[in-house]
Amino acid sequence: MKKNDIVRLKIVSATAEGSGVGKTEDNMTVFVPMTAVGDIIDARILKVKKTYAFGKTEKLIEPSKARITPECPVFSKCGGCVWRHIGYEEELIIKSQKVRDAVERIGGIKTEFKPIIGSERTDRYRNKAQLPVGRDKDGKAIIGFYAFHSHRIIDCGECLLQPGIFGTVIDVTRDFIAQTGTDIYDELTGKGRLRHLYIRLGEVTNELMVCYVVNGNGLKHEDLLVKMLREALPTLKTVIFNSNREKTNVILGRKNRVAFGNGYITDELCGLKFKISPFSFWQVNRGQAERLYAKAREYAGLSGGEVLLDLYCGTGTIGLTMAENCRELVGVEIIEDAVADAKSNAEANGIKNARFICADAPSAAEQLRKEGTAPDVVVLDPPRKGCGEELVKTIKKMGPKRVVYVSCDPATLARDLKYFAENGYVTKEVTPCDMFPRTAHVETVALLTGKCPNDN
Ligand code: SAH
Repeated sequence: MKKNDIVRLKIVSATAEGSGVGKTEDNMTVFVPMTAVGDIIDARILKVKKTYAFGKTEKLIEPSKARITPECPVFSKCGGCVWRHIGYEEELIIKSQKVRDAVERIGGIKTEFKPIIGSERTDRYRNKAQLPVGRDKDGKAIIGFYAFHSHRIIDCGECLLQPGIFGTVIDVTRDFIAQTGTDIYDELTGKGRLRHLYIRLGEVTNELMVCYVVNGNGLKHEDLLVKMLREALPTLKTVIFNSNREKTNVILGRKNRVAFGNGYITDELCGLKFKISPFSFWQVNRGQAERLYAKAREYAGLSGGEVLLDLYCGTGTIGLTMAENCRELVGVEIIEDAVADAKSNAEANGIKNARFICADAPSAAEQLRKEGTAPDVVVLDPPRKGCGEELVKTIKKMGPKRVVYVSCDPATLARDLKYFAENGYVTKEVTPCDMFPRTAHVETVALLTGKCPNDN
């Protein structure tokens, strides 16, 4: 097999990253994106490795029954979605399998897997967008998403994952750029001003936050921009300029300046009110977050007298929604603004048994342990890189009865579950939860319990 060969393939499975796995007649494996299990295709070979190859669909000979027609015009170009060409049920099967494979193969863990919690909404579920701004080859301003594995911007005003109102923000921003000739940032040279458009929506409150990330302090004609936004968007609550002067892929810089409103929006989750500022983590799919937290609450099994430690707590959401069922809540989070939000969220909801610490979770846990804090239940919800072995060892020393692990990356979850197993914690149950329909991502919540002497 060599580059540019055309080969007949049957798609036999799908990778967790969103590629179909095809087999040739002589059983060579070829990965082909945007194919569905059951497809028969002619593929053009793009790259050959020793035992497998990569290809793209040249001709669809026989479509799989799982196929549906993607509704999005830029599906094949944009790097956001990978599962728009198959039904949602199929997607859920692939995602469940991704979690099971990781836990069993990487973690070496046998446990009970519950059915995946599917999302009620598979479109327009996102309440946040971070969109790069650039210019196309004719110099026209473009706002959209990066293409797969690239920093080429695919112009896209109407993304099916985001609420329609985000399209209005994009349109106003485009008009403003056209009217004022706003200087746009160029990633290659590191020159130019406007880098990203960052939008957040409080789904229950309808409050809208618009933030412009600029290489500098702000933009020329800012007043006009705010005026245009306010005229087009009656629910606009705040406009912020974030300053990012670094030549980096990290979207947000460290400094925010509020140009309109008070710099944050609010929303509701599990019956509580939350304050959301630009730097604070906030679940992008609110409806699913409620279902995920309900599962986490069930796993936490609180009866009122416990000390609950919520590690990687963001604005305090998970812990605060459980606070009425425990004696004391301690939250740990590394982003200062998120901790400030968590504190005011506790206050705004009349929660008096919570305190929040701004620190690195593993160090804070060790410190708390030294001070004699002995949580009965630990909830942890780390970023993709997981929590790591050091924190697992500290948790073991603290000796909670239950650990509830919320994870956005099955591979690091599996690795960490293995560390927990080595430290005497048994993974009792795993529930995948689809927070991000149509994309390759899947969330998981796992319940671990400390091994009691009577357990066998
Ligand atoms: N539990 C929250 C947030 C989860 S996202 C929720 O559901 O809303 C993960 C959080 O971990 C983010 O808020 C991030 O800022 C925080 N974080 C990342 N690294 C950390 C570290 N080393 N120590 C503590 N918090 C960290």
